[in-house]
Amino acid sequence: MQLTRRSFVKGAAALAATPPLSAFAGMTPREPLRQFEYTDVQLTGGPFAEQYEALQAHYLALSNDRLLKVYRQRAGLPAAGKDMGGWYDLDGFVPGHTLGQYISGLARFGASGGDAACHEKVGELVEGFAATLGPDNQSILRPKTNLWICYTLDKHFAGLIDAATLSNVAGAKDLLSRVLAGSQALLPAVGRDRIGKKDPPYDETFVMPENLFIAGKMTGNTAFDELARRYLLDREFFDPLARGGDPLPGQHAYSHAIALSSAAQAWLTLGDAKYKQAMQQAFTLLTTQQQFASGGWGPNETFIAPHKGQLYDSLSSTVDHFETPCGAYAATKLARSLIRFTDAPKDTQHADNLERVLFNTILAVKPPDSDGDYPYYSTYSPAAQKTYYSKKWPCCSGTLAQTVADYPLNLYFHAVDGLYVNLYTPSRLHFTHAGTAVELRQETRYPAEDSTTLIINPASAAAFTIYLRIPFWLARPATIRLNGRELRTLAMRGTYAAIHRRWHSGDRIEVVLPQSFRTEAIDDLHPDVVALMRGPVQYVALNPAEQQDRLALPAGLKQIAAQSFVENYGGRQIVFVPLYHVQNESYTTYFSKA
Ligand SMILES: [Zn+2]
Repeated sequence: MQLTRRSFVKGAAALAATPPLSAFAGMTPREPLRQFEYTDVQLTGGPFAEQYEALQAHYLALSNDRLLKVYRQRAGLPAAGKDMGGWYDLDGFVPGHTLGQYISGLARFGASGGDAACHEKVGELVEGFAATLGPDNQSILRPKTNLWICYTLDKHFAGLIDAATLSNVAGAKDLLSRVLAGSQALLPAVGRDRIGKKDPPYDETFVMPENLFIAGKMTGNTAFDELARRYLLDREFFDPLARGGDPLPGQHAYSHAIALSSAAQAWLTLGDAKYKQAMQQAFTLLTTQQQFASGGWGPNETFIAPHKGQLYDSLSSTVDHFETPCGAYAATKLARSLIRFTDAPKDTQHADNLERVLFNTILAVKPPDSDGDYPYYSTYSPAAQKTYYSKKWPCCSGTLAQTVADYPLNLYFHAVDGLYVNLYTPSRLHFTHAGTAVELRQETRYPAEDSTTLIINPASAAAFTIYLRIPFWLARPATIRLNGRELRTLAMRGTYAAIHRRWHSGDRIEVVLPQSFRTEAIDDLHPDVVALMRGPVQYVALNPAEQQDRLALPAGLKQIAAQSFVENYGGRQIVFVPLYHVQNESYTTYFSKA
């Protein structure tokens, strides 16, 4: 491994200055299901790996000089390279805001995928960032010139945390305290809910506690912890949620959904059960009242008032249905946190929704171009198209890197008594269970096919339980075979099927999850306006006619390929494919059942 920045980047083999985050949590009463480290899991094929590899290459190719230009300009340093444009420049909406997220995403890609170039770029960007701090540790944030202090600072911290823990960038941990010290005079004394654009300063104190708590644990600097507690959105959000209330309607969707990641860290750090209760209540509200069939929510970035047909109304009143990379980041983190916090889960609600969001929102985004054009809103109106955001380098350019780099975390979870298999996609896992090293490989073409195969290779025979997610959407029973023999294991839909045994090297589990079409209504007032689902995947009609009426729900779909179906509409053949296969075609997501 050739690394040019020895002072900042230490090789993966070198001693890490910072213990991994797992040293702070995992298989404890607060987190009975441990999330694996990035280094434990690799994607080895399939649709998620394809997007993962393309985006890793995309973020690796960004110009360091351009990314650092606005930081150097603010610091009065020579600043080479072209302006970035859009939100990112000196006169942009939030100058330099996403740098920390690009650093974070690259560190996560490097940790799972093992590409040294990711860690090297992380080191170079952190070094470049550090060089702009100056004697007062001011970073890019300046009074009166940047209204988004907390918002930007949170991303700085995320990048530095991941640079320190995943890329072993030696200087990154110390930079956390320096950056906090340099911005302290700009930070609000008290936390507050989001305030509208017309009433500045508009900022988001309440997105910060997650990274503040983590930075506090890494550095031992109590200033982080104090600020984290001060900025928890208790009164306006977590308290009413924990009491079973609904504070969502009218709120800005993404910032409040990502605030639930701060509730997760508050639960892990403070141990107050109200944070876990708030997360579960928010999950219930999101999945039963707020979300489209894709798993997206928040038309025009705003949570709707339930039971008023507002999701249906939004199909014709806007094309901005779901702020996808940001919203998917929040939704996947929420689901993973709830999986981690649920001891011996009795149902698969969190994991099923995680799968829904992954396949139909983040996997379905238009790939970014190479000059700042990124996906932002998903559109669910009739004759929709996938488009880029109107401004370059938006918020979603940062969360796109993080959400996709986090794919390996969604697959498997580790419990005291065994392993939970949550997502069916080609992959490799290495873990140690009760002292025995275990390798698990998953081979599958799911969801193009119904089956998946797990091959278990413990270093020596080892007894533990493998829990397989049996999704809620199954219309016919799952079948499970062990080394070719069908098991009579209870495999009820919406539960985990448990296989306990002494595992030997080469043991094979084959799971068949029969997928079939079903419909899901847009909301409770419009039961006849439905999305078409097949297993976890939302199917859409390609190039629907420019007709005024909503396309009728297909009644006689004929399969023409693994994931392509055709319906005859009075002599006109219309093709149905997964939303995540759509590229430049127009498409329709909701159909009329009546
Ligand atoms: Zn966004």
